[in-house]
Parts: sequence; structure tokens; C-alpha cells
Amino acid sequence: MLLRAGWVVPVDRPPLRDAAVAVEDGRVRWVGAASEAPAGEVRDLGPGVLLPGLVNAHCHLELSHLAGRLGEAQGFVDWVERLVTTRPQDPPEVVRRRASAGIQELEDTGTAGVGDVSNALAHLDLLARSSLRARVFFELIGWDPETAAKVIEGAHSRLAGVEPAERVMVSLAAHAPHSVSAPLLRAMADSGGVSALHLAESPHERRFLHGRDPEWSAFLARRGLGHVPFVPPHLSPVRYLDRLGVLHPGLVAAHAVQVDEGDCAVLAARGVAVVLCPRSNQALDVGLAPVPELRAAGVRLSMGTDSLASVPSLDLWEDVLALHRAFPSLEPEWLVRTATQGGAEALGFSDLGRIAPGAEAAFAFTEAPPSLADPLAFLLSGEARLRGMRA
Ligand SMILES: [Zn+2]
Repeated sequence: MLLRAGWVVPVDRPPLRDAAVAVEDGRVRWVGAASEAPAGEVRDLGPGVLLPGLVNAHCHLELSHLAGRLGEAQGFVDWVERLVTTRPQDPPEVVRRRASAGIQELEDTGTAGVGDVSNALAHLDLLARSSLRARVFFELIGWDPETAAKVIEGAHSRLAGVEPAERVMVSLAAHAPHSVSAPLLRAMADSGGVSALHLAESPHERRFLHGRDPEWSAFLARRGLGHVPFVPPHLSPVRYLDRLGVLHPGLVAAHAVQVDEGDCAVLAARGVAVVLCPRSNQALDVGLAPVPELRAAGVRLSMGTDSLASVPSLDLWEDVLALHRAFPSLEPEWLVRTATQGGAEALGFSDLGRIAPGAEAAFAFTEAPPSLADPLAFLLSGEARLRGMRA
């Protein structure tokens, strides 16, 4: 089968005008000019742009039921508090139904791979039945060091009970440096490693680790954790985790908003994959990741939507557009590559993120005017409507 389109954006090479992609058994076999395509049944998509399926490297499908439920949160701590108090109000079947709708939304808006944070692991079967490739980050939270041994033991036995699925890989993850105790983080680092976490997201996290954030301390007290002793490390979130031995190549760290030049250098040196979530950061009013600085330091970058508890859609392209608006100097090819290949590399999906021989035949497509001369500019114009496309 040959997919033909006005433009094909392979990502690992420049865009191709009037191009075709040969697909066999769900894999790309060939990509190039339509005039040179091998013989085969042609499916002509018409004027438009075909690119690899997007990779959303940070998402929480199981929070989809909280869409529109948290009201007008007054900053980060208030948002977290609203989340933890509203979350238990819905029964499991509602949580599952909304997660299923979230999967559908990812598929419909052109996403082919997802990094999905989960505390309950109650929708793995839904992911396995979907068209998505998924890395599920089984996230532990635990501020009381006294409970660390029990939490890690319970997590490992829960993981051991997970049925292996070819397209859904589950690994142990942590919530954040100010919600997971140092002993629990160390125990995770020593037993297979932390595969993902939220890192340097809000000013509260940074100030708390530096010894003073009355709002986060009061929140912990309201959660019954006021008695827990904590000796602040007086370090940035990145340096604190580095000291604990948590940063390693392959760690998928969401946000990296509260980072300075030295932090960027540490993230690059440790090979940490950072996920940019611009719409979520804007919604929670925590600032924006310093993308030019992270890039200049050589940090591996990808993009994620975060959950429907903080953003209005799971359409990753909306985050690409948000980043484009925030940093107009970012090159279009870099934005497209970060939302595709960047995510695929972060999650270890070597056959996603580009249109090349051997890659999975999972694409995103948008219609475009027949006269289109610059497909990358069109993708960032706000007029592109990406949808999932499989062959
Ligand atoms: Zn998140």
C-alpha cells in the first residue's frame, strides 16, 4: 500500500513535496518522491501534510475524569489540594470511562506513543487494546520516610503481578522531590531506578527544598504529614535529586521549569530526558521552562500535555503551538522533531517518531491548501488540524 500526500515530513530528513510512503505489514518500507514510488495500491490523501505520529511523553490518563472539575485554582498548591480532594469522589468505572475517552482523544489528534503516569494501573488493558504504544510510569508518592520500605515492597509486588503486554511497558516512577521522601527515592534508585518523575515544576518545590515554603508545609500538615521531619538540603530540585542518585540516562523528567544554568548542565550530563509541558505550566502559573537554555546545554527534550486536570485537551499539537508562541525563535523543524522523535527517544520507542524504513506505520495528517509551499510553517500556523492516520 502506498500513501500519497502533498507533503511528507519524515522528520529525519527535509520535507518531501508530492511524496509517498510505502507500507507493508504495519511498517514503513520506503519513503520518497511519488514519481519514484514502487508499484502498489495507492491511497491518495490529497493536498496536506503527513508526518510521523506524535509522541506525548507526559500524560496522566487516569486523571481525565477531573476535566473541568477543579475550578479556578489559585496557584499550584491550591490546584494540588483540589486534585487530591476531588480525585476520590468518582467511582472506578467513571475513572476508567474517562481514561478510555482520553486514549481516544490521543489517537484522534495524531498521537502514536504515550508516556502515561498512573497510581492505580487500572487501565492497562485499555491501553493494550488501543493503537497506542505506551510506557506507563507506576508513580509512587510517600512523604513519610517511615513508610518507605513498605511502599517500595508493595510497589514491587504490584509490578510483579502486571501481565506483560507487547505494546505497554510498566516501570516504577516517583511523583516529585517534595512529595517523595529521600529514603523512598534512594530505595527506588537502588532497586531498578526511578523511570520518571515531576522535576522542578513549581517555585514552591524549589523554595521548600531551599528550606522555606510555608504554603507547601501547610499543605503537608493538612494531609496529616506535619509531624514528618525534613532537613532541607538547600539545593535546587535538580541538584538534590542528583545527590540522591536519582538522575540517570533514560529518566523521563516532566517540566524542568525551575532550573538555572548549572541545573541544565547537570540534566545534560546525566542524560535525563526532559518533557516540556507548556500549557500545563501556564495553567498552574508556575512559569515556563527555559527552552533556549536547556537546548544550549544539550538536554534531551520532548513534549507532553500533562493531564486534563490542568489542560483542556490531550492534543499535543496545542502544546507545540503554545511553545511556538512563547518562544517564536524556536525553529519549526526543531518543534516538529521534539514532538515526534524527541518523545520517541525519551520513551525508548526506536520505531516511532520518524517516517523511515522499519518505522511503525503510525502517522498524523492534516489537510492543507494545494498550493502549500512551506509545510512546517503551515503546521505552526494554527490552521493545521492533525488527526491520527494508520495504514
Ligand atoms: Zn504530570
